[in-house]
Amino acid sequence: MGEEQVERRPSARPRIAVGGFQHETNTFAPLPATYAAFERADGWPSLSRGPALIPAVEGINIPAWGFIEAGQKAGWDLVPLLWASATPSAQVTSDAFQRISRMILEDLAAALPLDGVYLDLHGAMVTEDHDDGEGELLRRVRAVIGPDVPLIVSLDLHANVTPLMAALADRLVIYRTYPHIDMAATGTRAAGEMAQFLAGTAGRAKAFRQISFLIPITLGCTLVDPAGAIYRRLEELEARAAVGHMSFACGFCPADFHDCGPALVAYGAAAEPVAAAADALEAEILGREEEFKLEFWQTAPAVEHARAQARKGVGPIVLADSQDNPGGGGNSDTVWILEELVRQGAAGAVVALLYDPEAAAKATQAGEGAELDLSLGALSGQPGHQPLKARCKVQRVADGNFTATGPMFAGARMTLGPTALLDIEGVRVIVTSAQEQAADQEMFRHVGIEPAETPILVLKSSVHFRADFEPIAAEILVVEAPGPVALDNRTLDFKKLRPGLRIMPGGPAFGAD
Ligand SMILES: [Zn+2]
Repeated sequence: MGEEQVERRPSARPRIAVGGFQHETNTFAPLPATYAAFERADGWPSLSRGPALIPAVEGINIPAWGFIEAGQKAGWDLVPLLWASATPSAQVTSDAFQRISRMILEDLAAALPLDGVYLDLHGAMVTEDHDDGEGELLRRVRAVIGPDVPLIVSLDLHANVTPLMAALADRLVIYRTYPHIDMAATGTRAAGEMAQFLAGTAGRAKAFRQISFLIPITLGCTLVDPAGAIYRRLEELEARAAVGHMSFACGFCPADFHDCGPALVAYGAAAEPVAAAADALEAEILGREEEFKLEFWQTAPAVEHARAQARKGVGPIVLADSQDNPGGGGNSDTVWILEELVRQGAAGAVVALLYDPEAAAKATQAGEGAELDLSLGALSGQPGHQPLKARCKVQRVADGNFTATGPMFAGARMTLGPTALLDIEGVRVIVTSAQEQAADQEMFRHVGIEPAETPILVLKSSVHFRADFEPIAAEILVVEAPGPVALDNRTLDFKKLRPGLRIMPGGPAFGAD
């Protein structure tokens, strides 16, 4: 096929299709991802098809932009397909998956002949019909482009890489940082792999290994070991001449299906050294299993500790409301910690971001300085969870439009809708009309708060917040307030994992009892 194209278009630039379809599916989360959720812009762009794709992702720390920028520099003829993402949630509806994949496939077919295809995927998509959403998408893509066109895919560090995905893609190129400060850089790396395929120098051998234990979400943080050490080892192995590329995904635990869990891939020219590198990285990960140690606080003692520190002038103390993280399938609407702050009189504390469009609308309509009785949060019907009913003073209203500045969300054009800063007996909460993980200081500055000068910050985020908040935090407490983004996998009612998979590092094996 390559030769035929060279004959037909001798002076043509390499013609490379670019697309993206991202969803991280928490099968324990309350609400599905509908087509409308992909159409909406949040922290990331709305569904963008054809020529609209490139300006939509331009300058943002996302893989598609890293790939496009590199492709433009290389002089490739880029064919934009479609890029879409939705906030993590429960399964992608069949309707959304069918409609979005059909658009990608139609545009791909219309773009033939192609010299390569790049897709910016998450790798943990579960749909109502397909446990392995990306595997199914790649199967359909292969059916259009055939077996020989290079298919390069970038994935999130929280991908649950399946055998089908590994078999169908020529390269799976995965983030190496959590917080994900290297999303665009991963797209750039994927472009480097594409360049090797175009030059005919890419190795065709591959190895794939699934790891035999789950890594709870917060323990995948690469700012510390053991996760940091695993990625350092990966780069050492990758530097060997016989290995072209290696990637490792920590996996996304709250996804109840057969291939949930960490996995690695290795590529190169010859099968034997590639397999040896894969074995060496697998051994490194298994050898560090016991180093993964879970540490978190209960809500009341965490608030007590933060208040005591604040009284001593130590701050900001960051409380991570990890299990309600909308970046992992939480609804960002729980008020457990907010209630406790009010109960303990933690004046000066600020909670971000509470998703409640109705409360945000009422507050913004009432205007700055108004006082009103509001029912806050608890929209998603978590058992035993009630909204916080409180007299709220509207301190500030805003439109929710700003550009993120932290290392993780860098350049993202946030559209959080009508937003209000409410004061409840001195405890403040930022209420938004869209869900977004509280991982960027601009989310506070947008409503007039300087986070570095705030004694207690509550962030609905698991790990991403560390990129922008660790530099200003005096202390970080991970808090186990209820929510679907489990800190401890033993709290998840798994039904479909593969037998023998340890659901915690060193922990019980699925199906053992
Ligand atoms: Zn991730």
